[in-house]
Amino acid sequence: MKQRKLKFASALLSSGWAEDVTLTIDAHGMIEKVEAGSSDKTAKTLKGIAIPAMPNIHSHAHQRLMAGLAEVAGPGADSFWTWREVMYSFALKLGPEDLEAVAAQLYVEMLKSGSTIVGEFQYLHHQPDGSPYDEPAELSLRCLAAAEEAGIAITMLPTLYAYGGFGGQKPTEGQRRFINDETRYLKILSSLDKASKGHNLRQLGISPHSLRAVTRELLNEVIAGLDRLGRKTAPIHIHVAEQTKEVDDCIAWSKGARPVQYLIDNFALSQRWCAIHATHMTADETARMAASGMIAGLCPTTEANLGDGTFPADLFLKNKGAIAIGSDSHISVSPAEDLRQLEYSQRLRDRTRNALASGPGKSTGRTLLDAALTGGAQSMAQKVGALAPGYRADIAVLDDGHPALIGRSGDSALDSWIFSGGNACMRDVFVAGEHVVQERRHIREEAIEKKFRAAVKRLTK
Ligand SMILES: [Zn+2]
Repeated sequence: MKQRKLKFASALLSSGWAEDVTLTIDAHGMIEKVEAGSSDKTAKTLKGIAIPAMPNIHSHAHQRLMAGLAEVAGPGADSFWTWREVMYSFALKLGPEDLEAVAAQLYVEMLKSGSTIVGEFQYLHHQPDGSPYDEPAELSLRCLAAAEEAGIAITMLPTLYAYGGFGGQKPTEGQRRFINDETRYLKILSSLDKASKGHNLRQLGISPHSLRAVTRELLNEVIAGLDRLGRKTAPIHIHVAEQTKEVDDCIAWSKGARPVQYLIDNFALSQRWCAIHATHMTADETARMAASGMIAGLCPTTEANLGDGTFPADLFLKNKGAIAIGSDSHISVSPAEDLRQLEYSQRLRDRTRNALASGPGKSTGRTLLDAALTGGAQSMAQKVGALAPGYRADIAVLDDGHPALIGRSGDSALDSWIFSGGNACMRDVFVAGEHVVQERRHIREEAIEKKFRAAVKRLTK
């Protein structure tokens, strides 16, 4: 790619809103220069409102296949655990081509929603019978290929899943495609390390599935393995305290420690750690987690869909905790909806409004966007989240001609996008300066959708 210039009538810069902004983007897709009040005639001019694109930090790509197919009542009370059985039945069917087709479609949908990075928490590893593929990282490599086809950046987080419950319990039959010991897991990590090196849209980290699925000793060994690859600041994501049953099981097993408390007491937490969900915390855990630097990776639409509970966002943000958002099960793929649901969860709990705005006169949408951009970039270990020199040119452009945004500008446009118009307001998206969504169309969407259609027909019959 050659150096290029893009000009926007309005843009959200690190210094705030600015007009007539020209961004100069270098040959590697990084922002070189930002000029407000620019009259540069050589720049490509785009209509709309430019904002930094939002990382989608938590994805299980294969779950896109079943979005909407677990909404029928079962014979008894439905819960996360009955949903998980339905999910396992789909997870057992997918082959490598299927996963690649499903992931590519999902990544197109993410790009069209204004997200330019996916954090792929990838726990499908083996063949349907549980035996490894010749290349043990086969399925994670398929996700990398899907990301490349869609043109989205990816932070690959291969999942370490060794046990079926707290204290090293035996995995169940339904978990056979997920399970690895240390040796096999490190082989997967090594393959993905090779595939990611020198690639400007790929990062690598790890995802111990949960405290149910690993032991402290095993996780420490694997972190040491990651460090030996020269990735000492690489992300570590873990599901934690999503369900009250998980909290109860943790307390029973550890003789008193709740899951977040256990993490804080047993690991050297820092900004490289991301706690996915962290729904059920005491006030003390909330303050300690915020102080540890560990990011809260929130998936509000999935958490609502699964009936998980309500994250203490007000308290966590007051304690200067860092948050990021992800679409997890992909019941909805929309950063606007996830931020909206996060705010609404607090309003419904406390019977209030503008619960998370940073102060009087401050926009709720702007507060949430700023927080999730900073935490999202950090949790993905990618240099994004701001339209400023030295950051990658990952840009989302809101359509100021959409009916939801008529007469809006600045923070009121963000509020109207997040709380009203949603994905329909998103018009153009750039990844590293590449124009991948052009006037609501992804540049390869027909071909990708065709393969997805065939895969869904095959897998849901
Ligand atoms: Zn998840």
